[in-house]
Amino acid sequence: MARQAYHIIGAGVAGLSAAKFIKQKFPQATIYLYEAAHHIGGRAYSFVDKDWQLSLDNATHVLLKANQNAWRVFHSFQEWQKIYFLEKGQTAPQPTKWKFRNEIAEAVFNTSFAEVGYKQWLNIAWQLFPFFPKQFLAAFSQGNLTKDLTQILQLPDIHINYGCKLLSIEQQGELISKLIFNQQSITLTENEQVISALDSYNYGKIFEPTHFEYNAIINIYFHTSMAITLPQGLHFIGLKGSLAQWVFSFPNILAITISNANACSLSDEELARQIWAEICVLRGRAAAFMPEYRVLRHKRATIKQDKLNNALRPSSAQTKWANLQICGDWTMKNYPCCIESAILSARRLL
Ligand SMILES: Cc1cc2nc3c(=O)[nH]c(=O)nc-3n(C[C@H](O)[C@H](O)[C@H](O)COP(=O)(O)OP(=O)(O)OC[C@H]3O[C@@H](n4cnc5c(N)ncnc54)[C@H](O)[C@@H]3O)c2cc1C
Repeated sequence: MARQAYHIIGAGVAGLSAAKFIKQKFPQATIYLYEAAHHIGGRAYSFVDKDWQLSLDNATHVLLKANQNAWRVFHSFQEWQKIYFLEKGQTAPQPTKWKFRNEIAEAVFNTSFAEVGYKQWLNIAWQLFPFFPKQFLAAFSQGNLTKDLTQILQLPDIHINYGCKLLSIEQQGELISKLIFNQQSITLTENEQVISALDSYNYGKIFEPTHFEYNAIINIYFHTSMAITLPQGLHFIGLKGSLAQWVFSFPNILAITISNANACSLSDEELARQIWAEICVLRGRAAAFMPEYRVLRHKRATIKQDKLNNALRPSSAQTKWANLQICGDWTMKNYPCCIESAILSARRLL
């Protein structure tokens, strides 16, 4: 049933997608988005590095061709390519094979293959990638995550409140009666619906406790004077046996991703030096002068997606409150925490 107004908390991929789907289904509804930060996108946003005068993504995001919902939003990803891996000490990249299962598991689930578990991994892969491995083509973000997402805000009657952080709620019986933000309080009427599009950590602080463990992801950007060529002219490559796990080549940037990175205790400089040395080996060059770099550490990049934490994820969008539904990557039990699952979680609200 249509409501007069929807209050969506969090303007990441899930919150923005929820706004879009609700608007498409109920054009008369007014939608209020509340975002604690001063930008949209949550864990998937772009910013301009002032020194480098370049737009960077907070993390180079990869989409698989099978992520069909994500492709409808993110048009600017480029360079379709099959996924190749290079093993330490070898020069020829190899296509995806079973021996790279841990690298794939860490990329998809941000969790080691052993922890995800064989049956669970197969089950999840089957649901999300039904044509696997035929559709195992991928492309990566080009510093345009925010631009792609901004199109959603062009829809009429979507109001976004930046810097507006939900602090707590009040409830009456099985309904949430009040939303208390840092900037304002909103008393809800029976014709209004609340949608939490918060990450699990913040949802747990405000609505009801969650008990997830989290895994980190580290991204490193090197500012290069020209595009660094990767073996066989690939635009990105997975590495086995190295500290760097994924390398993405841009015209003036070389981006590195390390998933499942809780155990990494290196300083930014140690990390950059070690990885730059690996890049020189990868290119078959002698150690070269290290360019400027940025290290971005995402401590709670995703929940740990092992069996235990997967079991803690909700089974539906409904909550114990009749006027609160939830979405967000973590709410899609059995799916990897990714852009696709964030969008799918918003789609199932209706
Ligand atoms: C380093 C890194 C690399 C990744 N790589 C990939 C990849 O290659 N491919 C892929 O598909 N996915 C990747 N992901 C995962 C992807 O970014 C997430 O799954 C997706 O962005 C989650 O969107 P979401 O809307 O569910 O959550 P979020 O993006 O976390 O959105 C939650 C929003 O709520 C806001 N918020 C929090 N607290 C409050 C509050 N109290 N009041 C108001 N607002 C609040 C936050 O600011 C945020 O905007 C990566 C994530 C990271 C961190």
